[in-house]
Amino acid sequence: MRKDTACIHAARGKDEHGAIATPIYQSATFVHKGVEEESPYSYSRVQNPTRAALEARIAALEGGADAIAFASGMAAETVMMTLFESSGHIISGDDLYGGSIRLFRHVSAPSGIRFDFVDTSDAEKVKSLIRPDTKAIYVETPSNPVMQVTDIRAVAEIAHAAGALLIVDNTFLTPLFQRPLELGADIVIHSGTKYLGGHNDTLAGFLVVNTKELGERLRFFAKTVGACLSPFDCFLVERGVKTLAVRLERQAANAQKIACWLRSRPQVRKVYYIGFPDHPGFAVTSKQCTGYGAMISLELDSPETAKKILRRVKVLQYAESLGGVESLITYPMLQTHADIPEAERRARGINDRFLRISAGIENADDLLEDLEQALEGK
Ligand SMILES: *Cc1c(COP(=O)(O)O)cnc(C)c1O
Repeated sequence: MRKDTACIHAARGKDEHGAIATPIYQSATFVHKGVEEESPYSYSRVQNPTRAALEARIAALEGGADAIAFASGMAAETVMMTLFESSGHIISGDDLYGGSIRLFRHVSAPSGIRFDFVDTSDAEKVKSLIRPDTKAIYVETPSNPVMQVTDIRAVAEIAHAAGALLIVDNTFLTPLFQRPLELGADIVIHSGTKYLGGHNDTLAGFLVVNTKELGERLRFFAKTVGACLSPFDCFLVERGVKTLAVRLERQAANAQKIACWLRSRPQVRKVYYIGFPDHPGFAVTSKQCTGYGAMISLELDSPETAKKILRRVKVLQYAESLGGVESLITYPMLQTHADIPEAERRARGINDRFLRISAGIENADDLLEDLEQALEGK
C-alpha cells in the first residue's frame, strides 16, 4: 500500500456495525468477560479501542513495531526519558524544539543524565562525543528552527556501534516525507499536535519504536505515568491523518513558493528552507527524504521589519505551533525558544530579526499577497 493510501487504510479495524470511522469509546473502564478470562481492554489509561486503532495506524505509517499515543509531544518525550533512569550520557542536537531543551536541561540533567549538545548534521563531531556510558543520540532533522539536516543513517551507525539508541523527532517531515526507523533509528517521536492532527485543534504525541520489546518497556512507563491520549483526541488525530497526504502536498508546495518569493525580497537577509539546492543539507535530504516539508525560517534586515510583519499579517496568523491547515508565523525569540539563554540563541542566529513560518493549505497567492502587504506597509 502506498503511503497516501496508508494514511486512510493502514491497519484499518473492523467495526462490528461497519462504522467506517473508528468509534469514540468514551469509557474509563471495561466490563470483564469473566473471572480469569482475558479481556482485551480493562481500563483506558492502559489501553482503549479508539487509541489502539490510532496507534496501529501510526505504527504502520512509520514502519514501526509499535506506537504509543500520548496527551502531547512533550508527554511522549517525558516518558521516553524514563528509559534512561537517572544516569548515563546523551548526545543531543543543539537546535531543538524549545520544550525538548527545557526537558533535557531542567528535568533530565538535574536528575543525573549528562548531555552534550551539538550540531548533529556534523556526524564526525557526534562520533567524537561518544563515551562508554553514552545511551542515546537524540536528533531533530530538519532542526527547529534553523533547519540543520542530519544524516540519519550515518548517525544510526555511530549510535549502534556504541550500543546506544538513536531517537529522531520526526514532527517536521512526518512519515510521508521521512521514515527514520527505515534508516536505522530506534525510536521516532512525534508531536501529533502538528501535521498528524493537522488542524490546530488538539494536542497529541507519539513514540514509535522498531522492536516490540522497546514498545513493551515504554508501555509500562506510559501506563504508569498516565499521560495518555483521550478517546476523543484519538478520533481527531485519526481523522487528521486521513488527509495528511493531501494537506502536506499543498503545504509543501506553498512553502516552496513562499521560500522562493522571500529570497527575492531585499528586506530578507536569509531564508532557511531545506528545499533550496544550495542548502548545506540538500544532498542528505534528497537521499533520505521524499519531500522538503513546509517549514521556513527567515532573517530580516531589522527587528522593526520583523515586528511589522507580525503586526500586519492578516491571512497568516501570528501564533505558535505549526503543521496545521492555517499558515502560522512565529517569533522564536519570544515564543518557542524564549527559555534558551540569549547568548546561545544568538550564536545560532535566532535573534530579534528571525521569524519562522509554517505554510498552511491556503491559496499560495493569498499568502504571498499577505506577506507582501505586511513587508511593504508601514
Ligand atoms: C511541538 C513540538 C514538540 C512538542 O509537542 P507538543 O505536542 O506541543 O507537546 C516536540 N517536537 C517538535 C519538533 C515540535 O514541533
